[in-house]
Amino acid sequence: MTEWKNLSTLSPRKFTCSYCGSHVRSDRGYLTGTPSRHIRICPNCNNPTYFEGDRQTPAPPLGNRVSNVPAEIDSLYNEARACAAARAYTAAVLACRKLITIIAVEQGALKGKSFLECVEFLADRNFIPPNGRIWLHYIRTRGSEAAHDLSLMTEDDANNLITFAEMLLRFIYEFPARVTSSPPSFFAADHPPRRPVPVGDRPHSDATGH
Ligand SMILES: [Zn+2]
Repeated sequence: MTEWKNLSTLSPRKFTCSYCGSHVRSDRGYLTGTPSRHIRICPNCNNPTYFEGDRQTPAPPLGNRVSNVPAEIDSLYNEARACAAARAYTAAVLACRKLITIIAVEQGALKGKSFLECVEFLADRNFIPPNGRIWLHYIRTRGSEAAHDLSLMTEDDANNLITFAEMLLRFIYEFPARVTSSPPSFFAADHPPRRPVPVGDRPHSDATGH
């Protein structure tokens, strides 16, 4: 592990380390003549992060990890998150467009469909939950612009597309895998499996009077 020399003690600050993804509280680092500009060492992985006011470099990836996602799709999703962290917002939006297209094809859309056709395919197949449909108009417009126009995407655009992609990944891959691998405890605790009652143990009379 790197040994940092002559570290200073700083006022504690919480942040998300972009190297290890941990939410940490650091009070070790290096000061400059300007207090708002300093470097903090992550207490978890020991890597340095530079702060200039609230601006953090390298910034943590936008969005969150999603489990049970096929490797190539997961890799592209994380590439989009990394692009946004590097403030490459147009690249992040383009990566999300490709990601959403690949998800649609993986779910049965014909290859060669346009990005918008793939979004419509996912919506028609109910892969987008009801409260996710508020994104559709936005995705149809801003998500489409990045490929056909020269307009540069903003941080909000990248954040929105990554949030939309994250929702799709959870809905299509993570939640089904969770239910399949371990049924919700609700069913196990409140509804134990019924065992057939042997004929001799059954009550002799029931509601029908037999
Ligand atoms: Zn770290």
